[in-house]
Amino acid sequence: METSDTGPQPQPAPRLRPGLLTFLGGVGTVTGSKFMVETDHARVLIDCGMFQGMAELRRRNWRPLPLDAADVHAVVLTHAHLDHCGYLPRLVKEGFHGHVVCTPNTARLAELVLRDSAHLLQEQAEHANYHGWSKHRPAQPLYDDKDVDRALSLFEPVPVGTETEITESTVLRLHHAGHILGSSWAHLTLEDGHTIAASGDLGRPVHPLLRPPEPFTGADVLLMESTYGNRHHDERGSRARFADALTRTLARGGTVVIPSFAVDRTEIVLHELAELRRAGRLPAAVPVFVDSPMALAALQIYRDAFAEQAPELRSGLTGDGGAALDPAPFTAARTVQESSAIQRSGMPSIIVSASGMATGGRVVHHLRRVLPDPRNTVLIVGFAALGTRARDLVDGARTLKMFGTYVPVRAEVVNVPGFSAHADAGEILDWLGSAPPPSATYLVHGEPEGSEALRDRIDRELGWTAVVPRSGERVLVQ
Ligand SMILES: [Zn+2]
Repeated sequence: METSDTGPQPQPAPRLRPGLLTFLGGVGTVTGSKFMVETDHARVLIDCGMFQGMAELRRRNWRPLPLDAADVHAVVLTHAHLDHCGYLPRLVKEGFHGHVVCTPNTARLAELVLRDSAHLLQEQAEHANYHGWSKHRPAQPLYDDKDVDRALSLFEPVPVGTETEITESTVLRLHHAGHILGSSWAHLTLEDGHTIAASGDLGRPVHPLLRPPEPFTGADVLLMESTYGNRHHDERGSRARFADALTRTLARGGTVVIPSFAVDRTEIVLHELAELRRAGRLPAAVPVFVDSPMALAALQIYRDAFAEQAPELRSGLTGDGGAALDPAPFTAARTVQESSAIQRSGMPSIIVSASGMATGGRVVHHLRRVLPDPRNTVLIVGFAALGTRARDLVDGARTLKMFGTYVPVRAEVVNVPGFSAHADAGEILDWLGSAPPPSATYLVHGEPEGSEALRDRIDRELGWTAVVPRSGERVLVQ
């Protein structure tokens, strides 16, 4: 007797559409990182950065995104720098109400960075209204304190190294990136099983405080930063140039101003100054000032991490983190009065102040004072994007516009890119190391020369398919 199954046949599971990746920012520029990953049931934004630098780039912050912010389920933040998290309050203002996933230290630092950003944006809008130079009347900030409060309420920190289902069938795992405290690179497993990884900003194995980045372990699609894709950092040479510039300037009775990103670069600079004090190369009589409330607040978060013995910190340092960051005597300037007192003192000193690219903040006041005097030195220790005062100085500008007037540049300008917290091309290739080749590697977060040079090296040396995407381009995750 034959049997037959006459009941309803099981239906094959509906085929899931492949993930779709859209490059919304951080393409052709080191700012505005935003990468949208969409599947049948999930929309996840990797980083939510603000465009900075040239006016044309900054205007892009005002352009509507090609998506409904309310439809985004989750935002993954790789780290707390403004070019990776600074657009978040605007996304919230536009209707985003999903959750924001990052490491606990990124959440702590992001609060600081976003509050400071709202403050600056509000100040700029007030300034524009006062002088009447905005096309919009009255000028509005991109976002304000309330938008930041709402954004912060959406944060859901997750530890590094654990798998978390951040939205329907989308699993995230964060890995240490060694770039700044809390920084991570992200690995997402999508609904159909395909994977995408984003390097965020990749740190360096020689970071004096943080452990080296965890190696890349593979993914179908990789978003690779390329800030220094065409550069080799000369570590030893940079430290010597830094120390020599200090010695030279102090010997001629000058002051050294170091424009420094408030988060991490200030810590690296303080660590170096502390080492030079210990080695006797920085005389005890020369005061070191940190003139940036935000940098000082970030410094406290670093000190807390030392106290908690955070696993991302180098093990030799956890016991005496304070000393590692304290080139005593060092004076913190929190208030405007304390900042003005530094300016009035007139004695040779070292001033570490934000912002890092001298686009705003207290460092601009210090530059206005020190630039006309050839005894002084400005030390540029980080990446200086096109269109910023720091870049103009590196490129040899003879005058610099500040507060509506031109100031002559007679001070010495020393560029020390080796102090950067970004991996150079060789370090990136080492990080990619022995991972299986992704089906595509997209070079993002770089100016065109950096991205193209890194694409060529990945193609030539690893034989991987490497592409510099166009802004707004969409590709499949397969
Ligand atoms: Zn960064």
